[in-house]
Amino acid sequence: MKRGSFKQMKTTNKTLILNNIRQNEVTSRAQIAKDTSLTPPTVSTIVKELIEEKLVKETEELGISQGGRKPKLLVINEEGHLILGIDVSSKKISGIVINLNGQVVHRVEIKIVLPITKEQFTTKLFEVIELMKQYTDSISKELLGLGIAMNGVVDSENGISIFAPNLNLRDIPLKKIIEETYDINVLVENDVRAMVLGESWFNGNAEFDNLVLINLGYGVGSGIIIEGKLFRGNQGLAGEFGHMVIDYHNGLKCDCGNRGCIETLISGSAIEKRAIAEGIIAEHEGASDLKRLADNGNEQAVTLFQDIGRTLGTGLINVIHFINPDKILLSGGISNASDYLLPAVHEVINKSEMVSIVGEPIIEVSNKQENQAALGACSLFLEELFKN
Ligand SMILES: [Zn+2]
Repeated sequence: MKRGSFKQMKTTNKTLILNNIRQNEVTSRAQIAKDTSLTPPTVSTIVKELIEEKLVKETEELGISQGGRKPKLLVINEEGHLILGIDVSSKKISGIVINLNGQVVHRVEIKIVLPITKEQFTTKLFEVIELMKQYTDSISKELLGLGIAMNGVVDSENGISIFAPNLNLRDIPLKKIIEETYDINVLVENDVRAMVLGESWFNGNAEFDNLVLINLGYGVGSGIIIEGKLFRGNQGLAGEFGHMVIDYHNGLKCDCGNRGCIETLISGSAIEKRAIAEGIIAEHEGASDLKRLADNGNEQAVTLFQDIGRTLGTGLINVIHFINPDKILLSGGISNASDYLLPAVHEVINKSEMVSIVGEPIIEVSNKQENQAALGACSLFLEELFKN
């Protein structure tokens, strides 16, 4: 595994030029100079470096002549570097290898069984990295880095998983232990935050400067992009949508210590408990069985999802009032029931006069949930490389 000299690669003018090429898709040195107000010699020098670093390449085709020779055209060298991304769930650790266009060129997966100790977890994690390394060594490409998407609270600045509730593990210095063993740059991020970044980079959502992703899984989380940048908050706690309190007086006690958090009502586990208590599904069944019942016309199941939709809508009204996003993406297993959830969500949101004045944001289910967190983990490096 060979580490690209990531830090040396990044200077302000380089980022400016790289971004210009990415945004234009195809461009020329003269056009870059015009767009960026850098001098033509500066552009030439930096483009030469970018080509040597395999981040940019010249196309076979030539551009249109402005008098004189036809200019050589430049594009991002999508095959020049690879990025590794890892997603850690409570059942498995999945790793993907992608090129700069976000195409998955290799995928590995190792199952894990709970309960798990810190040592057992890191052993499994290193097994996944080792498998990815075997692949990347076999094709000897330079690596931009390894991104890791972790559930729970993450210190992204130092690459530490502070608390991963799905594994019940604390204080794992992921960046440190991996960088000590392998010659690779490591970035760590909360999984849902990584997901929203991946949606922005790889799933056609780059045009939405203010984007919120709500993940409706076993727990409930969110990722927020504000003015084109991932928003983490002062200590990385931003986006705890699951712990938005919406039923302070009568709500159930939440794992976070508060009462009436939205997660206690709309998470996969909350829905399952409720459906079992109401006798709609059996003890051993889950949310997917409830969805199947709803699809078969079971009125109780449909009504339950509609009620969940109204609660979700109430939470989203708070998000809209607070952040005013262009778009809200829903993801995770429960989003599969969007046929029942979304009409109820819109019904609630339409009651907000403030929202009706400015218009409802786009609310839809993500159409690319496969490898979503791992792709997001990869996009952390694009964020670093392309953003000033
Ligand atoms: Zn809570």
